Amino acid sequence: MTPEDQRLLSRAIALAATARESGNPPFGSLLTGPDGSVIAEEHNTVLTDGDITAHPELKLARWAARELDPATAATTTMYTSCQPCGMCAGAIERSGLGRVVFALSSEQLAKLKPPTVGPAARQEGPALFEEARVPVEGYYLP
Ligand SMILES: [Zn+2]
Repeated sequence: MTPEDQRLLSRAIALAATARESGNPPFGSLLTGPDGSVIAEEHNTVLTDGDITAHPELKLARWAARELDPATAATTTMYTSCQPCGMCAGAIERSGLGRVVFALSSEQLAKLKPPTVGPAARQEGPALFEEARVPVEGYYLP
């Protein structure tokens, strides 16, 4: 990690403070382009938007997928105040971003907050394979 990486991580941490000051969970992220300049910034707006998906990493991944061609997206780096959660990690992977640099790890964050409450949703399946495969067949593979 370079001094420039650390400078950009400090900016992501400042965005996390902005999120908290605006009444939201304290997380912030930014995206740099191929030349290392900041091309987008976001902070968490889960509470003010009433949107459980309004994590900054997810908002930036959606923005990149919408606004950047895949070759450009691959040259970007996301700097984020905390390691992306599972939802955001999936979106980052789908958006084709090139690199993620984070400050707090998930383990470090877990020590700074109460444990997550409520059981995880139970998943059941697979089922109805013959029926469910019909709309999928031929979409990805000829
Ligand atoms: Zn997230």
